[in-house]
Amino acid sequence: MQSGELIEIPARHGKALKLKKGQAVRLINTHGTQVVDCWAWNAADLADHMSMEATRVWLQRLNPLVGDTFVTMKRNPILTLVEDTSPGVHDTFMAACDRHRYERLGVKDYHRNCLDNMFEGMRDLGVEPPMPILASFNVFMNIAVEGDGRSLNTGPVVTKAGDYITLRADMDCYVAFSACPQDIVKIQGEAGTPRSAHFMVLDQGFPSPPPRPAWVP
Ligand SMILES: [Zn+2]
Repeated sequence: MQSGELIEIPARHGKALKLKKGQAVRLINTHGTQVVDCWAWNAADLADHMSMEATRVWLQRLNPLVGDTFVTMKRNPILTLVEDTSPGVHDTFMAACDRHRYERLGVKDYHRNCLDNMFEGMRDLGVEPPMPILASFNVFMNIAVEGDGRSLNTGPVVTKAGDYITLRADMDCYVAFSACPQDIVKIQGEAGTPRSAHFMVLDQGFPSPPPRPAWVP
């Protein structure tokens, strides 16, 4: 995988990559309508995976802004959001879709799903994740906290074609993406049809952002 090479995440499928510390990956919402689930693992310790629950503690907020760092379940910084040309609507709450979710939605036959896509992408690299991880970073997914402060509203993606985010690796790590196959619950924008997305690895350095005053150790 060469720096700057545009790699497709085919609709309803997964793709993974390895980043060295300091490299970054730019994830592009090619059609502007697609949710992409994201996972990451410490390359030196696969049991130390990116954790949405630990990240919310670290950031003291629900969803990340540019400059925010994701941490692992062992509280190690792993990825930092360094660019975001989208409206900044992402989700750290919702479990990745899996085959059980589709069975509960009434699907009789096997339905492709993000959790299996995560395994698919990593196994293509010859890496076996030690456990299923339902808590993914759901890029471009539009989940809003309602005015009552406790209810969640699921809406369609609000990005436009070509919007992207860039995640800088703060350690050597694996990153997996899934172009979410959800076609029953209306989360993909407009027609609700799962589409492809793309990513590219960037070698250029992204400097550490200044510490935010609200950061709580
Ligand atoms: Zn999904």
